[in-house]
Order: sequence, then C-alpha cells, then structure tokens
Amino acid sequence: MFTSINPATGEAGSSFEELDEDGIELALTRAQTAYRAWRNATIEQRTALLSAIADQWAANKQHLAETAVREMGKPITGALAEVDKCIAGFRHYAEQGPGYLEGRTVKTPTGRAQARWLPMGPVLAVMPWNFPYWQVVRFLAPTIMAGNVALLKHASSVQGCAALMQQLASAAGAPDGLFQNLAIKSDKVADIIADKRVVAVTLTGSEGAGAKVATAAGRALKKVVLELGGSDPLIVMPSADIDLAAKTAVTARVQNAGQSCICAKRMIVHAEVYDAFLERFEAGMRAVKIGDPMDPETVMGPLSSEAQRDTVLEQVARAQAEGATLRLGGERIDRPGAWMTPGVLTGIDPESDVAKEEIFGPVAAVYKVANIAQAIDLANDVPYGLGSSVWTQDAAEIEQFARDIESGMTAVNALLASTPEAPFGGVKLSGHGRELGPWGMHEFMNLKAVMYG
Ligand code: NAP
Repeated sequence: MFTSINPATGEAGSSFEELDEDGIELALTRAQTAYRAWRNATIEQRTALLSAIADQWAANKQHLAETAVREMGKPITGALAEVDKCIAGFRHYAEQGPGYLEGRTVKTPTGRAQARWLPMGPVLAVMPWNFPYWQVVRFLAPTIMAGNVALLKHASSVQGCAALMQQLASAAGAPDGLFQNLAIKSDKVADIIADKRVVAVTLTGSEGAGAKVATAAGRALKKVVLELGGSDPLIVMPSADIDLAAKTAVTARVQNAGQSCICAKRMIVHAEVYDAFLERFEAGMRAVKIGDPMDPETVMGPLSSEAQRDTVLEQVARAQAEGATLRLGGERIDRPGAWMTPGVLTGIDPESDVAKEEIFGPVAAVYKVANIAQAIDLANDVPYGLGSSVWTQDAAEIEQFARDIESGMTAVNALLASTPEAPFGGVKLSGHGRELGPWGMHEFMNLKAVMYG
C-alpha cells in the first residue's frame, strides 16, 4: 500500500494499493493493444482528446489542486496555478500539435525524400512529486499528440494525484490503455524498461534515480530523456533593476518551498550592488508569509516531507561547518509536519561540498563577484546545468551570459519558468534531451525517411 502523508500536519491520508505482477503484466498488454489502434488515430481524434482532457481538468480544478496540497504541501494558489498551466499545456498541443507533426520534403540526387514524424509505442514516464501534475502533463500531452501511449510511475508520495490524472483522462474519453497510472515502487522500474512492449523512458528526478533508469535503458538499448537536478545561478550586474532582481530572487527561492528544479538557488552578485541587493533580498526572505497551505494568503507552506526538510537542514549545518554564515532563518519550525524557515547563507567556500550540491529547499546561497568573468566562472562551477537567470541592462553582457553560461535555459531580467512553447531541459548532470514544444514531442518519435526514386 501507498499512504499519503500530509506534510502540513504529519498525518496519514488516503491509501492506494500497489499494483502486483499480474497487474503490471495486464497494463503492459493493454498499452500495446492501445498503441496498435492509437498510432492510427487521426489528427482530429488526437486534438479532440487533448481538448476534452483540458475541459475535464478545468471542471475539476479545485479538487486537483487540493489533492496536491494535501499530498505534497504546496500552497493552494500555487497548486491552482499549476492546474491552469496543465490545462494550457493540453490546449497548446491540441492547437500546435498538428503543425509539429508536419514533415518536410527534400531533394535527393535520385528524386526526393520525405521526412515524416511517426509514433514509436508505449513510453514509460518516471516522475517526481514537486509539480505532481505539470511534470506529467508536459510528457503526457505530446505523447497523446504523437500517437504514442503513456505509462506513468509517479512518486510514491503523490499517488492520489496520479490516480486522479488517469481518471480524468478516462472521463475525457481516452481509449482503454492510452494513459495508465502504474502504482508501483521504484524497484519495478528496471523490469518494465526491459520489457519489449515498452519502447522508451523519460525520468524527471534526482541524479541517482536518473543513473539507475539510464542504466536500465542502456542495457535494453532504449531511448531515454532525463530531467535531473539543478543549482541554478541568478546573476545580478550593476545596471540591473536591483529591487526587481531581489524580489524575483525571493520568489524563485521560496516558491514551492524551494523545491523547484529550475529556480535560482545561488545568487551571484556584482560587488558594486552586492550590499544593496543583499539588504533587499534578506528583507524579502524575512517577510515571506509561512502558513497553512490551504490558506490563499500563504506564500510558503511546509516542505514535501519531513525527510526532505531534514536533508535541507543537514546541508545548512554542513555549510556552516565548512565556514559559511547563516545570516537568517534556515531553521526547523517546531510543530508537526515538514516545516522550516527560509534561509540565507553567505561566505560559502565555492570549493566546499555543499557549494557543489543542489539545495532542494528554501535556503539561498549568496556570493559576491568582481566582474562578469568571475560571475560566469562561478555559475558554471557546479556539476549541473539546468537553468539560469541574469539581471543586467547591458546588451553585450546579455549576449555573453547567453553564450557562456552552461545551462539549458537562460532567463533575462525575468524569473525562469517553463512554458509549453519553449524547449525545456539541461546539460551536464542536469540531464539530456528536451521536453515541450515540438522538440519534446519529437524525442519519442520515429523520424522516417520515405525515399521516392
Ligand atoms: P527522485 O527520488 O529521483 O524521485 C523521482 C522519481 O524517480 C520518483 O517517481 C521515484 O519513485 C523514482 N525513483 C527513485 N529512485 C528510483 C530508482 N532507483 N529507479 C527508478 N525510479 C526511481 O527525486 P526526488 O528527490 O523525489 O525529486 C527531486 C529531484 O528531482 C531534485 O533533484 C530536482 O531537481 C529534480 N527535478 C528535476 C526536474 C527537471 O525538470 N530537471 C524537475 C523537477 C525535479 P519513488 O517516489 O517511489 O522513490
């Protein structure tokens, strides 16, 4: 059984039965059968289903949002915004998907070749709890449009969200087996990847899980997309709007209680504006309204679990032991559940262990640099390369950041956020492959060359 634990109270909630071996076998057979039919679904059938799923989500918005709040503790405003984003994601592929499927014809010495996008088969998605709906939708919507079918292994802590997503797809008229939630533990994943009915796998999560899934996929010679951790820099240069940069940095670090893969975790600030930035940033972090995640006024709720909170507290303690200064917060709140205060660390030795790690909670590291070269060196001096955010009015600096920061995404004078139109993914230990837009859909498609003599 899986049992949800409400991180705001520590109390147990709903339980979900784990799928046994027979259940997994049945699901794989259903996926294969569904694929044989769905691969030939017309464009109109695919877009109509995506629109119908979006309608189901819109009709069940509050229920979806409250389920996420109870299972992983995000504030209700964030949960509602996440559901809206998912609805937009389904509608995006319903509207733009037909264009993404268009092929191209090229001339060849003997005639012409048509490059056509064809589906591949059932794809397994292994997903995390932090955005329990959006992580799944950014895989599911393009999968449906592509003519593939989807198998979901969601995080153990958000099985209620996972079950609800499958129900809504069925209610929208999805054929049996098109989208199946497999309520399984991670020890079942490697065998499913090895099964010949599954053609590819995508994972969003930690490096450790990514390495295990990539190993299993490599053994079976199957395609894998990995969206892993990040320790994103937010760089502030002298010409920046310091008030806005500091305000955005606070939002970045405390949204979803700091458990967002692409939000700034390291603030790298030019010496000329360091004091001004730090004063505003600290004031913002101190003022964050912590409270009941069901209250629409709450900005930050608990972390997703006590274990996650304790991991962050341990990193803070280790940073201090390695010479860093904890300027505010970063402490356990003494009440049942997974609570802690937002924190700010300075004076971190860039060579220390903690400096190279991802802090997946509401604690920021603030660094001072002398120039743009130092800022870029420090930004790149971690094993990750997911996102980045740069704050400057200087066009040459913007170009230098865009060119030289080793990351899959760079936001300019803005909070970095994913959007259905743009590619999403990382480099280095943040993974490989891309999601969203046409790029994400094409990852799991067969680009067939049809050659005409
Ligand atoms: P996690 O432990 O890696 O879990 C993610 C998923 O992988 C869960 O479904 C988990 O199942 C499963 N899993 C764990 N170990 C596995 C294994 N050995 N084999 C197969 N599956 C396995 O990640 P997390 O700690 O919950 O999530 C936080 C991490 O995800 C952070 O590093 C964050 O940066 C990253 N993340 C990345 C992105 C991105 O787009 N790049 C987005 C969000 C989060 P169980 O729950 O059953 O263990």
